[in-house]
Formats: sequence, structure tokens, C-alpha cells
Amino acid sequence: MLGATALPMAQKLAAQSRPKSVVISTANAFNGGINCCSKAMEVIKAGGDTLDAAIAGVNIPELDPRETSVGYGGFPNEDCVVELDASVIHGPSRRGGAVGALRGIKTPSKIAQLVMSETDHMMLVGEGALRFAKAYGYQEEDLLTDRSRLAWRMWKRELRDRDGHTNWESGTDAPPKKKVAELKQAFPGVDEKTLEWAYKVAMNPPPHGTINCLALNEKGEMSAVTTTSGAAFKIAGRLGDSPIIGGGMWLDQDIGAAGSTGRGEENLRVCGAHTIVENMRHGMRPKEAILDAFKRVARNFDNDAKRLAQIDLNFYALHKDGEYAGGSLWDRRTKGGPPAQFAVCTADGNSRHENCVFLMQRT
Ligand code: ASP
Repeated sequence: MLGATALPMAQKLAAQSRPKSVVISTANAFNGGINCCSKAMEVIKAGGDTLDAAIAGVNIPELDPRETSVGYGGFPNEDCVVELDASVIHGPSRRGGAVGALRGIKTPSKIAQLVMSETDHMMLVGEGALRFAKAYGYQEEDLLTDRSRLAWRMWKRELRDRDGHTNWESGTDAPPKKKVAELKQAFPGVDEKTLEWAYKVAMNPPPHGTINCLALNEKGEMSAVTTTSGAAFKIAGRLGDSPIIGGGMWLDQDIGAAGSTGRGEENLRVCGAHTIVENMRHGMRPKEAILDAFKRVARNFDNDAKRLAQIDLNFYALHKDGEYAGGSLWDRRTKGGPPAQFAVCTADGNSRHENCVFLMQRT
């Protein structure tokens, strides 16, 4: 029992620990992260539910045709079909839902929410997920854009056999000339900048990209969502970490939430989001919790920096007390680029990018 003198102190501590609304997300291109967090905060401030808020946030990049890592305009699989994955957890009700390899629907996050709220299941995939979405009035649409189709065609064309041959080029005996002039001939009507972009996409390891968004309101309620088009040019039916509850996203209403973007296969080998939340349960702060999860990833590669160099992986964590962090396996600055960042919006409506912590630095 608390004595009378202890009471004011207890009240003070309670007041201090009252959470403030915070939203964090992946910092996607086209201000996806900043706009996503602002939108989610707007919904929270208007008294909306945290999951509705996070979903309203990620709907912005899902619907943006320029964003090639999620939703409409996301990179297709190797058959040139866009397959989307998403998962959600609603903290207050402690429920979740997910969809995988969903075709034809621009906003898989909304379908994952419907799986959660309208079914006795946790995950629907493929044809069944699409039929389910249609049953709730969603229209099947073509999710390819000219840009994502171009990237796929370039990728297909540049897949060559040992002799440099591809069926997707006329004058087949000629060795491939990776020159813009040659590409201009092959892709008439496409401007040089777009060609260079598509060539880079096709020639590098398949690009990844995803949005994870974690939301907390001042009542301490939390929600999480992850949505993606997955690895570009993947084998049809491939699921990464994003639709896997506990992998690409996890939330325990008593502790906090975490999510991931990047190479899902590596995240799944450490069950990253769940691991991070459990780390926070055992007393680690968000940064430490993330770095510990990265150490487990590194351990799976015997801490071999050379092999790890091929991996791009990011984690995000939001503690129930409002402390948050973003993390990247690699310090990207050593590549000459800007530091890896994530997006955050605080209760004052200030939406911004902040730097990620990182585990590995290139020498
Ligand atoms: N994590 C996603 C996946 O593996 C892709 C990504 O974030 O880059 O499907």
C-alpha cells in the first residue's frame, strides 16, 4: 500500500508516463512516409482508431502509381503480375489479419483489416483473398503501370543465357550492348531518364520495398500495418515477411510494436518483429531491441560482412511509452548516399525524417 506521502509522487509518475500520440513508418519515395505519418496522425487527432489511422496512412503510397514497392504500380512478379501482401494488428482488440499474393486490389491493407474484422481466420491468400475482397465490393483492377511494366520488360530482356542470348530481343545473334542508344531502339517512346531507371532496376539485385506503419494514441492504444508488393520479379506465389504476423509486423498491446522492410527471407529467419517486441518486454529500449535483432541476422551469416553485404534489411520499433526507433542493417552513408531514415509524426503534427541506427558499417 502507498503511504500518503508517496501518493503525489505516484501521481507525478503516472502523469509522466502517459503516452503521447506517435506514428512512425518507413521513409518511402515520393514522401510516402512523411505523408503517411501525417495522415495517420490526423485521423488519431480526430479521435479515430489507431488501425484506421495507420491504414489511412499507408493507403496514400498504396494508391500512388509512382511508388513501385506497394499497391498500385508495385513491381510485378516474374510473370508480370502484381501480387500484394499485407498484415495488420489492432492492439486494443488484440486481433490481426493478413493477405498474401493478392492480385487486382490496390489496397491490400484494407483487405487484411477485413480478414481481421469479418472472418474467423487470420490469413487469406491468392485467389481466395481476391474472391473475398470482391465479396466486400472491391473491384479487380490492373495494378500495372507503364513504368512497372517497362521495368519488368527490361528485366526480362536482360535475363540472358551464358552466351548473352535472350529471346526478348530481335537480331538475337548480336551480343548485348548495354547502351542507352540501343535501349532507345528497343523501347521506342521511352525517355532516357526512365530507360536508365528501368535498366538499373533490371540489372541490380531485385529491388525490395515495403511500408510498415506503427501508431500509438494518447490512451496508449496501438496498431500496426505492413503492406508491400514484395520482391520485384519474384516467383509467382512467393510470400516474404510482410504478410506474416510476427515476421513483417508484430504488436503486443502491453509492450509495443515493431515492423520490417527489406529482404523478408532474412527477417523471417529471426522472426524480427516478434523478436523486437519481446526484447522490449525484457527491458530493452527500441534501439537496443532493433540492434539485437540485427545481430541475430548477422549470426545467421556467421557474421560474415561480405555475405551480409548483399542484404538490405530495416526494422522499426515503437514502445508503448512513446519511445521509437528505426534501424538499418547497414550504414548507407558509406555507399556515398544519405543515411538510412524513417518517418515519424509526433503529437504536435510535426512530420519528419529521422536517422536510423545501424549495425554494420562498410570499411
Ligand atoms: N519485406 C518485403 C518482402 O520481403 C519486401 C521489402 O520490404 O523490400 O516481401
